[in-house]
Amino acid sequence: MRNVIIIGSGPAGLTAALYAARANLAPLVIEGLESGGQLMLTTMVENFPGHRDGVMGPDLMTEMRAQAERFGAEIMSGDVTAIELGSQPFSVRLGDQVEQTKSLIVATGASARLLGLASERTLMGHGVSTCATCDGYFFRDKPIVVIGGGDTALEEAIFLTKFASQVTVLHRRDQLRASKVMQDKAFANPKIVFEWDTELAEVEDVDQGVVTAAVLRNKKTGATKELPVEGVFIAIGHTPNTGLVKGQLDLDDNGYIVVGEGTRTNVPGVFACGDVQDHVYRQAITAAGTGCMAAIDAERYLEGLE
Ligand code: NDP
Repeated sequence: MRNVIIIGSGPAGLTAALYAARANLAPLVIEGLESGGQLMLTTMVENFPGHRDGVMGPDLMTEMRAQAERFGAEIMSGDVTAIELGSQPFSVRLGDQVEQTKSLIVATGASARLLGLASERTLMGHGVSTCATCDGYFFRDKPIVVIGGGDTALEEAIFLTKFASQVTVLHRRDQLRASKVMQDKAFANPKIVFEWDTELAEVEDVDQGVVTAAVLRNKKTGATKELPVEGVFIAIGHTPNTGLVKGQLDLDDNGYIVVGEGTRTNVPGVFACGDVQDHVYRQAITAAGTGCMAAIDAERYLEGLE
């Protein structure tokens, strides 16, 4: 019987592991197939406090993992296949293996939706990004494109005008999904231009390993054109990784886990932290912060059981 199992090994899961380990709870972290989370897809992270010269995303995750292990967190590879929260203790299954636990921290994160182009994957972190707050700074006085027509796309486009020389928003339709207020702000911004009914056909240049242009395809005419840019921001939404808890934990309209006080979910003893419960901030540091909260909440819950 475990005191606490943590599902997920991004900044939220590993910070929860660090705190739970230092509270002598001997946590088990099940790291998932995308071990390390979204920071594994980034290059330089300049906004994680304590790293004044920046730190590579994967290096930061390696450090967090080693720090949690130093205090006794056990990290297991593999993907959880099912969890059962109907009665205490909770069961966590990995295929045939079943682990039982008194408390559970869900830190399964969210995945940025991608278009599915091979060039988008290859150049991720080398000019292609899914996070303007994280990477906007690298595009000072450079032209960029943002893909998407929702609130995230416009919010990122507006934010990116602080750095970029020009921001071109590509939207697949001729009407935005974003709220009116966000649309008004974007239309009023002289640095933002729109390409309607347009999709991203390709990101150049895979051979050079950096972004040099976006190939745009007009969906109505089929015509393509090349737009010289140095950055491509994909902002077509995120999908919270809540498949395991659907039907067992309360989710909001966008599929994120609803947390009440602190990191508590609707099931006592189950806590959620990081991007799986946050579609607003989505930063490594906020994920780490809620991971700390989840471990403290779990510790207090376990004390209450005694
Ligand atoms: P949304 O799902 O609202 O929008 C996604 C956008 O991406 C849509 O315009 C969609 O096009 C487009 N898109 C999706 N898939 C593709 C694809 N394969 N190729 C091209 N385009 C694609 O996601 P958001 O992340 O923008 O927002 C999520 C939620 O968070 C919303 O409820 C939003 O209101 C909220 N939010 C609020 C903010 C605020 O108030 N400050 C800021 C950010 C988010 P189409 O329109 O054609 O479907």
